[in-house]
Amino acid sequence: MANLRRIKKACYLANRSEHEVQLLLATKTVDVERIKIAINQGVTLIGENKIQEIKQKYEGLAAIYHQKHFIGHLQSNKIKEILTYNVSCIQSLDRLSLAEKLQKRLTLENKTINAFIQVNTSAEDSKFGISPKKAIEFSKQLSDFDRINIKGLMTIGLFSSEKEKIRDCFIRLKQLQQEIITTNIPNIEMNELSMGMSGDLEIAIEEGATIIRVGTAIFGKRAYPDSYYWNENK
Ligand SMILES: *Cc1c(COP(=O)(O)O)cnc(C)c1O
Repeated sequence: MANLRRIKKACYLANRSEHEVQLLLATKTVDVERIKIAINQGVTLIGENKIQEIKQKYEGLAAIYHQKHFIGHLQSNKIKEILTYNVSCIQSLDRLSLAEKLQKRLTLENKTINAFIQVNTSAEDSKFGISPKKAIEFSKQLSDFDRINIKGLMTIGLFSSEKEKIRDCFIRLKQLQQEIITTNIPNIEMNELSMGMSGDLEIAIEEGATIIRVGTAIFGKRAYPDSYYWNENK
């Protein structure tokens, strides 16, 4: 994977150790065979956007060691199903109603799960995530949910050719992380910052990403536009 070099270089230029930045393979639309090749090269973290795809690929990937995060919009009526597929982290927790239902279901099944709070740092309507203004309040509310282990924050940067505007999103996420840490909320860990994709991973690494989510730069262009994955009604 030639693009591992790109990540190495970005870490080097940002004066960060490669070990501080974990690569998550964004595998939407990518079939099992290609995912296996990537995992065999040593990248063991994948992220999926749709339960349907997790389901389709589940058997095929069962025998190969990997971890799976959910990075798409999670509808409440899919909670029960998602818990059957060994998803270790939900990166897109963005509303109280979802957390409540998740907590309830996890309690029933006597399970726990890791989660990141998704923040809409770009203020684009097309993207999910809690508004930055509400993120601290939301963290406090999540403190009571003992089945959900909050580990950090996730965001999708602004789609723009203006790098400084994209950078502002990542700076905002980092600031929020620091504010939440200072607020010192019980049961809320804030070590992870999931930000940066194929188009902006260098900027995200410069601004402190601990997980970058990369699809096209590794697997090539997808047949579907991303709006297919990010809009509620499609
Ligand atoms: C598809 C996707 C990515 C990866 O996007 P690329 O531009 O292909 O690297 C990252 N995060 C989320 C939430 C995605 O849906």
